[in-house]
Amino acid sequence: MEPKVTVGVLWNKEIKFVLNTNYSCLGKSIQGENSVVFADGQILWNGSLCKELVFESQDADASFTIKDVVIGIGFHWERKEDQQFQGALKLIVENDMITAINLIGIEGYLTSVISSEMSATASLELLKAHAVISRSWLLAQIEKNKEIRTNEETYTTFTENESERIRWYDREDHINFDVCADDHCQRYQGITRTFSNIEIVKQAIDETRGQVLKSGEKICDARFSKCCGGVFEEFQNCWEDTKLPYLVKRRDSENSMDIPDLTKELESDQWITSRPDAFCNTQDKNILGQVLNNYDQETTDFFRWSVTYTQKEISELAYKRSGIDFGTIEELIPVERGTSGRLTKLKIVGSKKTMTIGKELEIRRTLSTSHLYSSAFIIDKKDDKFVLTGAGWGHGVGLCQIGAAVMGEKGYSNDKILLHYYVGATIEKQY
Ligand SMILES: [Zn+2]
Ligand SMILES: [Zn+2]
Repeated sequence: MEPKVTVGVLWNKEIKFVLNTNYSCLGKSIQGENSVVFADGQILWNGSLCKELVFESQDADASFTIKDVVIGIGFHWERKEDQQFQGALKLIVENDMITAINLIGIEGYLTSVISSEMSATASLELLKAHAVISRSWLLAQIEKNKEIRTNEETYTTFTENESERIRWYDREDHINFDVCADDHCQRYQGITRTFSNIEIVKQAIDETRGQVLKSGEKICDARFSKCCGGVFEEFQNCWEDTKLPYLVKRRDSENSMDIPDLTKELESDQWITSRPDAFCNTQDKNILGQVLNNYDQETTDFFRWSVTYTQKEISELAYKRSGIDFGTIEELIPVERGTSGRLTKLKIVGSKKTMTIGKELEIRRTLSTSHLYSSAFIIDKKDDKFVLTGAGWGHGVGLCQIGAAVMGEKGYSNDKILLHYYVGATIEKQY
């Protein structure tokens, strides 16, 4: 049977919502405008206090609207909008607030998430591959959350001492629901918008219904990123120190076992400054437009790129972004690289402080006003300038979206695409 997912949509002292069709709650039939207020540690609704409320409907077309949902939390484009959802609405008390949770079948959730994330020009095979990945990722997260909740030990993503700060960013566990609706997990807006690609996305979801990637008995934690740069990165180099057998190094080309050793400085230098054969080695705007939603088409070279900072710029940037006062940055020294050439540890030598930082996302955030394309870069210091020459976009683990789009254009089926990126995995139907 199709599992359900619980999505945390909004938390607030007061929540207003509209039941657009007939719903039932506590044995009553309800429709129209409603509001709940946090009071005495409980939920005040229609004059009575409850610990939790569930609004359900048997009608397949039932929908409700939650008012003033905050989107883009913590980003400069944070704003509020009314959002419409299918499925059931559950209200619970959490952290002295009310949390609104949407309970919905996995396939409906995926239709919404994929149609908003993927471009209108993406091919059916690419969308099918994405449907399988998103389904696998979601089911794996649900499993992982259950394990974390039942496990006594706390899950840490941070180690810091005087000379080293190693941190990775993963979806921290939500306690009372599986995923949140914001970018923190995966952006989900229910049926608020109708996307132009909705029909082909529905077809891709239907044709892969229940299919997931598996490794032995486990559902794969199917990571993906924009462009690997030519070789895949391995899971443990970006997140926790657990090697996953299906997220391992491989060349992103037909000749997939011809892998240079990019953990070595000399080899990664040669690799990054050349343009080796790879599926993702493309600047074809039609292909890039399939993968990059609302893509402005200005930059086309994600396979190899370059950024230049003055010494003053990079020193100010690193201080502002990390909170560590390095003084004037004198040197950036690669300490450790992963299988794709991505730096997992970088030593920043400053006039006031020297410190090693990692893993890849921490490095990308520290050396950019938002994110560097990737941490697969080499450093040239020329006079008072730092030139970073890099490869790829994103963490490079699992499916490479640009590479996969090229494979789709070359006529590879979605199964072939998936099994190229998730090494040794199998595709199985769960329901
Ligand atoms: Zn989240
Ligand atoms: Zn690639």
